[in-house]
Amino acid sequence: MTTFPVSSELERSLIARVPHQLLLADGWVDSADGSTFDVIDPSNGQVLAAVADARPADGEAALAAAHAAQPAWAATAPRERAEILRLAFELVTARSDDFALLMTLEMGKPLAESRGEVAYGAEFLRWFSEEAPRISGRYSTAPDGRNRLLVLKRPVGPSLLITPWNFPLAMATRKIAPAIAAGCTMVLKPAALTPLTALLLAETLREAGLPDGVLSVIPTSSAGAVTGPLITDSRLRKLSFTGSTEVGRRLIADSAHQVLKVSMELGGNAPFLVFDDADLDSAVDGAIAAKMRNGGEACVAANRFLVQRGISEAFTKAFTQRMAAVTVARGTEPHSTMGPLVDEATRQKVAALVQGAIEDGATVALGGRSLDGAGYFYEPTVLTDVPHTARILGEEIFGPVAPIVVFDTEDEAIGLANATEYGLVAFAFTRDLNRGLRLAEQIDSGMFGLNAGVVSNPAAPFGGVKQSGLGREGSVEGIDEYLETRYVGIADPFAG
Ligand code: NAP
Repeated sequence: MTTFPVSSELERSLIARVPHQLLLADGWVDSADGSTFDVIDPSNGQVLAAVADARPADGEAALAAAHAAQPAWAATAPRERAEILRLAFELVTARSDDFALLMTLEMGKPLAESRGEVAYGAEFLRWFSEEAPRISGRYSTAPDGRNRLLVLKRPVGPSLLITPWNFPLAMATRKIAPAIAAGCTMVLKPAALTPLTALLLAETLREAGLPDGVLSVIPTSSAGAVTGPLITDSRLRKLSFTGSTEVGRRLIADSAHQVLKVSMELGGNAPFLVFDDADLDSAVDGAIAAKMRNGGEACVAANRFLVQRGISEAFTKAFTQRMAAVTVARGTEPHSTMGPLVDEATRQKVAALVQGAIEDGATVALGGRSLDGAGYFYEPTVLTDVPHTARILGEEIFGPVAPIVVFDTEDEAIGLANATEYGLVAFAFTRDLNRGLRLAEQIDSGMFGLNAGVVSNPAAPFGGVKQSGLGREGSVEGIDEYLETRYVGIADPFAG
């Protein structure tokens, strides 16, 4: 384990050890025109590294490699793919300190949270190492008793994986691991803000035995220009995207050209409901976990706190005290419990949402300001008296801001919870199990936390309904996203 505090020498030597080039079939290479882009430390605005900046020609080379490697990779024994994944799990876990520090440097979260992400992200490698040998089909007799039906699962083929910056490791392993297990080749385009974690992961996967060409990694500052031609290329068969609903909508439209199989993990606007009969302490613990993991920069972050009138005063007081105790500092500092936001644009968006809420009638009970000095820090913020119509309730905040809305009845709470185009996750705290089940059935979301502020789990199907996405990641469902069903009709074997 790293001894706190992390020294700048340790940071420099880690950055120097991580690949800075593109990974293509021939190994690590510079971009087609030799260009690079800078990766910034959001805690101080300083340049961490210059990374090769993939051009459209590099994207084309990556897809060509994936296409060429696909037949041999699909023919490997499931156990062979499982062993690569299992070894990758061991290696990522053994390098937990490096991955954790790298994520803290690239995107700002405290080291303790980065370590949590390493454990979570590595778990997808282990989970899908266990799923790879369990891909199966079925053999059955047609209802009329004559023909036989054989149903096979086949890898869908070369897959483009596009990931966001907020969970640089876990969002990559949640796609790469099931693709490897299924026998798909891949091109990974990580977020421009956090390419280093993806590059270290790729190096680790190669050490675990992943053959050349099965995975290419193409960081780029021109996402659309590089991935656009791949999405309309007939060699690509699958697009898996995690990111904003706005970009996801565009990519779904682009995927129509080749009728790609698509998986979309998009934005959220999670309601967090607290009923009068809730256990106050566990509701506050859950609220802090649901709001403040990743400083609120999570698709599953609680975005709207809907609190029943009878408990609203006690909840608001206890929750605000806990928010006030959050220590904002660079993620490498031992006492940090919240780092900076990822960049200035994100900070300005958060500040504008808070300003809009104030104009709409909300009261600032805590925080509400950007912090002076270097880095993109913003205060943990609690807004009360938020009207049901406030604009902030319709937007994904992606920052440490908690708007609290008071409601009276269960029906009113359900109506408010569903008043959004998103449907990723919802949370509810109540001691009444029947109420909990009514809410789980009536709130439109892909996931539901009952007296739990964290639902993410490698064994659980992660994903949303409505405009939060298509498909599921993790769990037994996760591998299906990379498999096609093939049916073979067989004539009656007893027909003579
Ligand atoms: P984003 O702006 O949509 O970017 C996501 C990824 O898409 C990045 O790699 C980005 O590249 C790339 N991209 C952007 N424009 C593109 C285009 N025209 N063509 C191809 N790729 C393009 O989202 P973000 O700000 O990184 O991430 C935050 C969002 O992700 C939030 O809405 C959050 O809710 C969502 N998210 C969802 C889940 C989930 O599982 N549902 C999990 C995590 C995050 P660049 O980095 O170069 O812009």
